[in-house]
Amino acid sequence: MIYRTDYHIHTTWSDGKETPERYIRAAIERGIKEIGFSEHIALMPQGEQWCMKPEKLPEYVELILRLRKQFPEIEVRLGVELDYIPNREKQLTEIVTSYPFDYIIGSVHYMGEETVDLGPGFYIGKNISQIFENYFNLVCEAASTGLYDIMGHPDLVRIHRFRPDEDITHLYSMMASAFKIHDVAFELNTNGMNKPLHDFYPDKKYLTLFAQHGVAVCVNSDAHFPSRIGQYFDEAYDLLKMNGFHEMAVFKNRERYMIPF
Ligand SMILES: [Zn+2]
Ligand SMILES: [Zn+2]
Repeated sequence: MIYRTDYHIHTTWSDGKETPERYIRAAIERGIKEIGFSEHIALMPQGEQWCMKPEKLPEYVELILRLRKQFPEIEVRLGVELDYIPNREKQLTEIVTSYPFDYIIGSVHYMGEETVDLGPGFYIGKNISQIFENYFNLVCEAASTGLYDIMGHPDLVRIHRFRPDEDITHLYSMMASAFKIHDVAFELNTNGMNKPLHDFYPDKKYLTLFAQHGVAVCVNSDAHFPSRIGQYFDEAYDLLKMNGFHEMAVFKNRERYMIPF
């Protein structure tokens, strides 16, 4: 029996569609052992539509801790999906050290003023190779800050199906190596299946590279609806096993533990 955890979940506190309670009930029904909430926070003025304001953190944290007590039949974890914004490490550090988080998901949505996931318009007429290289560099830079425990959807830049013509194995090698050196885990994020990409992040072609480098992994849904909790997890676990992973990362109080599949 696989010990199922789902640490990447959005509720009405950011851009998800239901309250945390609804997700907890759905997770219990599906046999998930640990559910973790990870609302979006991005220190960008443009982010207000899909993000939780940092001022909301005390109230959010209090609620999740209360739900933890209210639902002893499941482990309720406290996280956040905190956008990496270059040169904002001071404010980011203040956020991660001010609350009793179990883990911090580090994601890159922004390249400059725009987010890579909003629409295909971001890519049209641009040098896709350069965008990929810059994106991978940003994710590696984020991993190096020490702010994060789990790197979220590490190749989100694939979302709209644009990709460089040339081989980009070296970008994934660089990423796997950076994750290992800076001791961060990555997620196999199943939500790409619900996007134009129709695949997981990161690209399954390169999963063996992460296994070879000994990078810790967890499987997350990035659910914005309760019905998507644990979505495609059986495929995800099989894929990881096929690619040389034998264990997955679980988190508590920002400590990582490994559990065999
Ligand atoms: Zn994200
Ligand atoms: Zn997310």
